[in-house]
Amino acid sequence: IPALSAQSIDMRYPNGTVALDNVNLSIQSGEFISLLGPSGCGKSTLLKMFAGLESPTKGQLNWWGQTFDTTGSTNGWRISMVFQEPTLMPWATIEENVRLPLDLAKIPRLRANQLVAEALEGVGLSKFGKALPRELSGGMQMRASLARAIVTKPDLLLLDEPFGALDEFTRNRLDSDLRELWRKNKMTVVFVTHSIYEAVFISSRVVVMQARPGKIIANMPIEGPIE
Ligand code: ADP
Ligand code: ADP
Repeated sequence: IPALSAQSIDMRYPNGTVALDNVNLSIQSGEFISLLGPSGCGKSTLLKMFAGLESPTKGQLNWWGQTFDTTGSTNGWRISMVFQEPTLMPWATIEENVRLPLDLAKIPRLRANQLVAEALEGVGLSKFGKALPRELSGGMQMRASLARAIVTKPDLLLLDEPFGALDEFTRNRLDSDLRELWRKNKMTVVFVTHSIYEAVFISSRVVVMQARPGKIIANMPIEGPIE
């Protein structure tokens, strides 16, 4: 069964805007999908649906064959989302920020600290656990947000233009590092971007959308890494 499947999804916002028109998409476990397209084509709307934050007006969404409606939850599957803004708590250290989802899930202290150390290592921030967010650069804050998203070892990682606000050098390094995290952790990833270069470089499949109304116009696997 696919990790995610969207069948005949329509989305009409209350003000009448049709954001998605008959979207069909099936994502297998372990895929790294880029959602690519111009502003307003419905990328964020689709991503929010995958996170369970929006419901379609019409159509069906399944996570590993289940719906939110029938189970009331994701059945124990862990979903993490990363936004364009780092959204760290400014008064808490990087370690405390990254540990937050584990504290909320009441993971024992010792195990949580171990997972936080692993996550910080994974994003190259081992030395910055005691720092406050404002002491770090924008790129490092994004790394910390990424660490907080992966610390729970999510089955599904959703990213909404996560590196869009960063300079090109920093963005390229983060792209490589995210790809490496995906390879190591076997997560299913959906990554929203405006950049065809970034999409082709980072993902295993690129899904292209058009605007007005938002729909999928191309769906292409990427064969092997670009050198
Ligand atoms: P993208 O992420 O590709 O830029 P969005 O999913 O944000 O696209 O938006 C798709 C369309 O839906 C756009 O026309 C946008 O203006 C509209 N839209 C997004 N959110 C809302 C909302 N809460 N209410 C009304 N219209 C919205
Ligand atoms: P591992 O592979 O390290 O043995 P898992 O991949 O099963 O462990 O889970 C990673 C960690 O996330 C575990 O320590 C687990 O206790 C913790 N965890 C379990 N459920 C949740 C949850 N709902 N939210 C956050 N963390 C959780």
